[in-house]
Amino acid sequence: MPNRLRRPGPPLRFRQLHDREPQPLRPGTRESILVACPRCDGCARLVTLYSEDTPPSRTRRMHCPACGAIREEPIGLRYWLRTDCCGHVLWATGAEHLRELEDYVRSPLRERLRLFLPDRYRIARLPRWLILARHRDEVLRGLARLRRMLPTGG
Ligand SMILES: [Zn+2]
Repeated sequence: MPNRLRRPGPPLRFRQLHDREPQPLRPGTRESILVACPRCDGCARLVTLYSEDTPPSRTRRMHCPACGAIREEPIGLRYWLRTDCCGHVLWATGAEHLRELEDYVRSPLRERLRLFLPDRYRIARLPRWLILARHRDEVLRGLARLRRMLPTGG
């Protein structure tokens, strides 16, 4: 293969995983993140639904399978997946976000990868402490803790 066919950029595997255009939020889009239940402190789910009304609106509803609590339009919830790490709080919104972070931190090219990603990508905006090489092992341990906190079924 002639060299001219090679392009700079993230390795292919990473590109397949992450180099997708973020989808604009279309009517009917449903977004789900894991939050701590304000009643029992268990793992609850906050679902945001973008309506098909004009103008578009959204409704947010929290449901906790552990205690049955339901909150409409809740405020001040905190992420379920959070842990102290390197003097900061390491957090993820859910299983997919956690997987992104794991892939990224495990990649030996992570510092370089970031340079190739436009700012709109979530991992292009990671805080610096999280990608520092000297924090790598501790961050991976933190991510492993978050993984153990995932409810079964994601
Ligand atoms: Zn609860």
